[in-house]
Amino acid sequence: MPRQAATDRLRHTGFVPELPEVEALVADLGSRLTGRTVRRLDMVSFAALKTFDPPLSAVEGEPIVGVSRHGKFLDIAVGELHLVIHLARAGWIRWRENPPTPLASAKGPIAARLVLEEPTAQDVAAGRTGSGFDVTEAGTKKSLTIHLVRSPSDIERVATLGPDPLSPDFTVETLAGILRDAGRAQLKGVLRDQRRIAGIGNAYSDEILHVARLSPFTPAATTDASHLFAAMQHTLRGAIDRASGKPASELKAEKKANLRVHGRFREACPVCGDTIQQVQYADSTFQYCPTCQTGGRKLSDRVMDRLLK
Ligand SMILES: [Zn+2]
Repeated sequence: MPRQAATDRLRHTGFVPELPEVEALVADLGSRLTGRTVRRLDMVSFAALKTFDPPLSAVEGEPIVGVSRHGKFLDIAVGELHLVIHLARAGWIRWRENPPTPLASAKGPIAARLVLEEPTAQDVAAGRTGSGFDVTEAGTKKSLTIHLVRSPSDIERVATLGPDPLSPDFTVETLAGILRDAGRAQLKGVLRDQRRIAGIGNAYSDEILHVARLSPFTPAATTDASHLFAAMQHTLRGAIDRASGKPASELKAEKKANLRVHGRFREACPVCGDTIQQVQYADSTFQYCPTCQTGGRKLSDRVMDRLLK
């Protein structure tokens, strides 16, 4: 079991959906789904389904009103309800032209399947074709969650999300307040803390810190907010620009190809050519450039354990 978990960890390094990918999924799914009617929602992984009321059958025959995002949570509004999916470490959405129903097996990566009614003439005229999608999760460590709720704020992890860095309300002053509140807490952990800032995970926090040329250790309160704000906006908006208009199937490769330091242990830093270093902690790793970010010093794994508590 531990060996299997380690394999999963390696396989998933470099692609965990974060804000830019979920944002691109929202656009892709929104154009395919909005206006269509749900025929059925089948759950394969009952461990992933975190709610029982309302029942899944409540979405049958209901129209899809829109697709949005709360941090890294995908929100598909169906009638009066919300199907909220957190893709976690290895989850993804796979569009299906002709999904077989019912699902043949509970084994494999499919956690749930949403099947649409046949497109009407009106749907076809509006470019809405196809027949549904699968929610998948690779690997053996399952952390994907699916909620069917009346309001997204019924989900505690959604209700407690910090501000979204892409929101027009998220300004340098917003970030300055977050950094002040975080005090001596170190930047790597603060950027990833969903209660402080919504949507940034392990990969984009590495990328933002590299763009900002800041050590992951930097105490939050000592950081120049406008400098970090610029690096954050540059990194996230750049990733979204590259992802926009791409179908879900191409987003993984797109993300991986454009990361500067994350997942690039032992490769050359694209800015200075130094060798990118890695720190292992808990069940994950992160990467940084010593020359660009830590005055040439290597960070120890032991210290990082403390950092992320
Ligand atoms: Zn460098």
